[in-house]
Amino acid sequence: MIQVFRLLIATLLFLSPMLSAQEEAALDTVSGNQIRHITGDLYRAGTGAWHSIFLVTDAGIILADPLNTPYATWLKEQLDERFDVPVRYIIYSHSHFDHAGGAGVFADTATIIAHERVAINMDGRYPQMPGDMIDRNNNGLIDREDIMIPTNADPGICGMGNNFFDRNDLNGDGVMTPAELQVDIVLPDIFYSERMTLTLGGKTVELIHPGKNHGDDMTVVYFPQERVVFAADMIADALVRDNIHSLPSACGPLDGTPIAEWISSYQAVEELDFDIFAGGHGDFFTKDEVASSRQFLQDLQSAVSDGMAQGLSLDEMKQQVMLEQYVDWEYYERLRGKNIEAAYLNLTQFR
Ligand SMILES: [Zn+2]
Repeated sequence: MIQVFRLLIATLLFLSPMLSAQEEAALDTVSGNQIRHITGDLYRAGTGAWHSIFLVTDAGIILADPLNTPYATWLKEQLDERFDVPVRYIIYSHSHFDHAGGAGVFADTATIIAHERVAINMDGRYPQMPGDMIDRNNNGLIDREDIMIPTNADPGICGMGNNFFDRNDLNGDGVMTPAELQVDIVLPDIFYSERMTLTLGGKTVELIHPGKNHGDDMTVVYFPQERVVFAADMIADALVRDNIHSLPSACGPLDGTPIAEWISSYQAVEELDFDIFAGGHGDFFTKDEVASSRQFLQDLQSAVSDGMAQGLSLDEMKQQVMLEQYVDWEYYERLRGKNIEAAYLNLTQFR
């Protein structure tokens, strides 16, 4: 998988005419880590297919998503070298371990901010998890089957890696506790509920909770002067990172959130005045591209609702609901049926 990501990065670099020599030099060819200028004092940094974003001000740096400790350690070295100010704020896009890890590297200078539900997802109980990863036997522990049943159901789409469980069962006792899964995540210092404005060094960043979608503790980070939006996993889905004109991976019934809330989450982003969506995965996207992904969800929702109203079974819908306007989108053949199934399960669950 890592090899695939490296290849992807190499391909993106090769194809991108906008990349300056300086930016190419920023690619760490050993680790696959990179820093890319977006606009003004705003930068995207990343490792493999995961991205964070940071804004440099005279009074310090505002960073969203430290990802994990090895990457954050590398990033801190880079920031220290390039900019003579410390990281003052860290924002979590959501509480999932692969985006919120690593903030401890900046603990001596940074205040961590997140949506208030991050506190609930980190209080020791079974946290909200993506896909169809749920506490199947309701024992509060992340058992192998909680991860591997949804993963094995469709390893190409929902795969967490064969050794995901063993890697995270740190004491090897056969169960993964929420604390083991979140061992690399530092509890935030500040929580907000709906919206928060952060100012530092004369610059402003807006934190917006768009509602539930991929997670229940999501934050959209808006840079109004730069006209850029950052969010992770809710737009540019986990599988199809490189192209927003792809069908979503639809692993599980849409992460346990009603499809109507997914749509309103997209609309909350579309209400912002921006030019570039630079998210936690994928390339940079325009507002129109974000809107086209929201339109797909609306078309999926109405097609499956209509099928259910007509009394069609799931199998009949998979045969008959063609979503033909999306035939040119990537993964159409592979994921059309899975999207219909996800919407069907979602609309049945949240009827
Ligand atoms: Zn996530």
